[in-house]
Amino acid sequence: MNARNWTLSAVAGILLTINAQAQITADSTQKKAARKYQARAPKTQPFGANAFAASKQTTIRWLGFGGFFVNSRGTTFMVDPLLEGFDMPVLIDFPIAPKDVPKLDAILVTHADNDHFSVPTNQDLKGVTTAYHSTVYVDSLMKNLGLPSFGHNIGDTFKFGPVRVKLTPADHAYQNAYPGMSKRRFKNEDACGFWIETPDGNIWATGDSRLTPGHLTMPTPDAIFFDFSDSEWHFTFEGAVKLANTYPNTPLLLCHWGSVDAPDFNPFNGDPEKLAKAIVNPGRIKVLAPGEPFTLSKLKKSTTK
Ligand SMILES: [Zn+2]
Repeated sequence: MNARNWTLSAVAGILLTINAQAQITADSTQKKAARKYQARAPKTQPFGANAFAASKQTTIRWLGFGGFFVNSRGTTFMVDPLLEGFDMPVLIDFPIAPKDVPKLDAILVTHADNDHFSVPTNQDLKGVTTAYHSTVYVDSLMKNLGLPSFGHNIGDTFKFGPVRVKLTPADHAYQNAYPGMSKRRFKNEDACGFWIETPDGNIWATGDSRLTPGHLTMPTPDAIFFDFSDSEWHFTFEGAVKLANTYPNTPLLLCHWGSVDAPDFNPFNGDPEKLAKAIVNPGRIKVLAPGEPFTLSKLKKSTTK
């Protein structure tokens, strides 16, 4: 946690903010990767106000890290935006700065880790949105920061414009496994994924999670924001492959890789080439550059279950 984050957190009374560094400690006690090679994201394609304009389609852009920006027929939102102020060396150029974001109908945050809930980014986006959505716990952190936030239970739904969102379960309460990491007892429902229905198809943002049986019994999504980190507190690589193959025709928009200089830290150093060798129908892997547009479309009925 850097000095700025610390100050902001202290002022807000958030003494127990969990950050990436905390999970590094957690993972490194379990698994020391010897691998030094780290796959890197393609060169960033910056975007500006035009990407927020009226549209007749749904366009998705990876922001780097676990973040995405979606413009669904003119309704705009971000999931887990991190566009500045991370506390580890970053490998990418961010595709847009918070000050250049003209408007957002909503910001969705999956959990409290600072690679998903970026305090500086969210504070700097406060002037352009009226609704932050997350779990009940993250909502409490957001309210401490004065953000206009809404806390939801797993399974709850909410709407903005033509977009309907449902919170999906996650299993990412790793903090409890490491005595001394946090005085707070974390619950699974402190973290979530989002099932996002748009007029042009359904997106599943899984969030960070261990693989659970529920991940393998979802309706077939038209796109997955796909975390393939080989971390025991994420899906694991084998688990990610299993999840990918459960929905064998769904495009996989890769995230949580190629963004942080951390070759020995599995949650940040997934390799798309390794994934391509392991899954069914590897042509659906979308190795997007940060900022590169991807047009969402519904899968053909014959390919859904
Ligand atoms: Zn993460």
